[in-house]
Amino acid sequence: MQYIDLHCHMSSRTTDDYHMMALTGCVAITEPSFWAGYDSCTPDYFRDYFHRLTDYEPKRAAQYGIQHYAWLCLNPKEAENREMAKAVLKIIPEFMDMPNILGIGEIGLNRVTRNELATFIDHVELAMQTNELIHIHTPHLEDKYKGTKVMVDTLISDKRLTPGRVMLDHSEEHTIEMILGNGFWTGLTLYPTTKVTHGRAVDMIERYGTERICVASACDWGPSHPIAVPEFIAEMRRRGHSEETIRKVVYENPAEFLSQCPKFKLKHTEPGAVLRFA
Ligand SMILES: [Zn+2]
Repeated sequence: MQYIDLHCHMSSRTTDDYHMMALTGCVAITEPSFWAGYDSCTPDYFRDYFHRLTDYEPKRAAQYGIQHYAWLCLNPKEAENREMAKAVLKIIPEFMDMPNILGIGEIGLNRVTRNELATFIDHVELAMQTNELIHIHTPHLEDKYKGTKVMVDTLISDKRLTPGRVMLDHSEEHTIEMILGNGFWTGLTLYPTTKVTHGRAVDMIERYGTERICVASACDWGPSHPIAVPEFIAEMRRRGHSEETIRKVVYENPAEFLSQCPKFKLKHTEPGAVLRFA
């Protein structure tokens, strides 16, 4: 089955991973801006990184027939540094018109501090200026509920914003209702050892249905699995879910959310897919 992996940090993965993803049905990925594993020392690092996301990675993915799209921001892990944030926010507009850039992301909170929230709001403001889609990281572990709530409250108080154009990713059992109930999209990120396992993701689909829910590998340089989405597909089949239901989650839903940006255009259409956009 063809699938779209909406959250992968391919700049930290090998070319073999693109190959494996292509062989398992991946036709498109989106790569949110990420933390390099260490705090960047200068704003120039981000210009190089954005160049990589808009030039080098799309070419690398294309060698395996995978369409590569990306999101721009200063990642939540570095959002505490207000000076750096201000400098990076000035660099982002230089790249927004690139053909593979779908919006601003993954912005969000890490330790839920005042400075992180200020940087989050600055990014939302930037997105509003040109009506961009927004991709949001919600914090992990003990900060998840609190951080998600702060961001949901901030977003719904901004009347310019359409919740259907925002994805709050990394949701879990205790945050998914708050996200979906306010009209946002959400993502379940599949990790081999921590966070959401395939089984828990399928449990959540069974409980909350398939509307406005996507799944992704969120693969990066840490313990993660670039073919987590096909593993999710296998678990859905094992539990007896129909091909239509599975296809909706792994292909039609991400296509519907991402197609709100006119730059997102799938070259191949999954046979049998019911696409609810132009
Ligand atoms: Zn990520």
